Amino acid sequence: MKPIIAIVGRPNVGKSTLFNKLVGYRASIVEDTPGVTRDRLYGEGEWLGRKFNVIDTGGIEPVTEDVILRDMRWQAELAIDEADVILFLVDGREGLTSVDIEVAQMLHKAKKPVVLVVNKIENYDDVEMKTFEFYELGLGDPYPVSAEHGMQIGDLLDTILSYIPEEVVEEEDERLKIAIIGRPNVGKSSLTNRLLGEKRVIVSNIPGTTRDAIDSIVKHNDQEYVIIDTAGMRRKKKVYENVEYYSVLRALRAVDRSDVVLMIFDASEGVTEQDKKIVGYAHDAGKGIILVMNKWDLVDKDSKTMQVMIKEVYDELKFLSYAPIVFISALTGQRVHEILDMVVFVSEEHSKRITTGLLNEVIEEAVQMTAPPTDKGKRLNIFYATQVSVKPPTFILFVNEPKLMHFSYLRYLENNLREAFGFNGTSIKLIVRGRD
Ligand code: GDP
Ligand code: GDP
Repeated sequence: MKPIIAIVGRPNVGKSTLFNKLVGYRASIVEDTPGVTRDRLYGEGEWLGRKFNVIDTGGIEPVTEDVILRDMRWQAELAIDEADVILFLVDGREGLTSVDIEVAQMLHKAKKPVVLVVNKIENYDDVEMKTFEFYELGLGDPYPVSAEHGMQIGDLLDTILSYIPEEVVEEEDERLKIAIIGRPNVGKSSLTNRLLGEKRVIVSNIPGTTRDAIDSIVKHNDQEYVIIDTAGMRRKKKVYENVEYYSVLRALRAVDRSDVVLMIFDASEGVTEQDKKIVGYAHDAGKGIILVMNKWDLVDKDSKTMQVMIKEVYDELKFLSYAPIVFISALTGQRVHEILDMVVFVSEEHSKRITTGLLNEVIEEAVQMTAPPTDKGKRLNIFYATQVSVKPPTFILFVNEPKLMHFSYLRYLENNLREAFGFNGTSIKLIVRGRD
């Protein structure tokens, strides 16, 4: 499980600037998914081979001091509950403010490491003078950085990661892990309970889960499956229960640990922007995905309703055309029994391996049907392809000149691979390499 670093601080101290710097240090480029609109409240970073998630708790632009304080309380609580390390960001140019003092008091309650970061320190001649007053906050040594100019960020990352224990070698858990995600009230707990129903075997903590998530185990055709219970992660506190942010964060944590994701929608409401964000994360993370339209009992139906809705869903979620859709009612139990079979199927697709011979046959055929793109008289030449990994299936295409490859031609190749091999419920990745 990737550790979570939360950035807390007043408006304009530089939270989003620092956020961008921290997630900018990632080794691999996660491509932007067209059609996914999302604000950047979380991102993945990597430093010296260690991966982490960063969340920017900054919300709306508050105007008055009490709005700021209310927002800050929310930020602090979220960070205290969810993060492994809290970065408390203050503004070295403005100096210490009364809001900073109040936030520091909130953070004193955290039983987590808090790193006090003084931003906007570009000049080291007077660094002591600019950071000295922040000792008053009682959070230890202030850490000077300039987020904008990327100064001291590497040292800061070293410090942050020193607070996080090195990945404990987890006991390998061979069981398939299923995350049930979605907005509040779409029916996640109802479905979880249905799936567990009579089949509930044990409720236990899976090794390696440091947080208090309780996983459940369900037996299906003599196999055990782990259901990651995000509904159970619900807190007593109602402060941010309905805040969109929180459900995205919960989804993020569950998705990270899962193999297959059940994305739950409320069929009576259709696909919302927030749904797109949540499921967009599962897509980016390359998980097996099943789209579950719940509350089907509430929908007025005729013989065409299902087809119409399938089309609507894929129109809204163009990047998920590979994911199967199932219409259920967690309330009545309709079609709930199909779900675990679908999970098994998608999981097999997600870890499917294609032999190099077969793969290259399909690619050659595709190339013969539609020639690769050219630029200034030069044509893209695909020498050969090979599958390098699974979950999701990932292929390297060795070519003469990678920059001759077009997005549309990659799409075309992907479609051909899907026609030949299926890959239902999983994204596939095509990496283009020059062969030198
Ligand atoms: P947020 O509201 O806390 O997310 O703050 P932003 O990241 O939006 O930054 C607020 C303002 O501070 C912007 O105008 C930034 O350009 C500026 N800023 C951020 N980091 C630095 C820094 O390291 N040095 C200076 N001088 N300005 C900065
Ligand atoms: P969660 O917040 O996503 O875990 O949602 P819950 O499982 O708590 O369900 C929220 C509400 O929707 C509850 O009142 C459920 O009884 C109701 N609900 C869940 N599934 C269905 C369904 O398939 N049909 C109908 N009509 N109501 C449902």
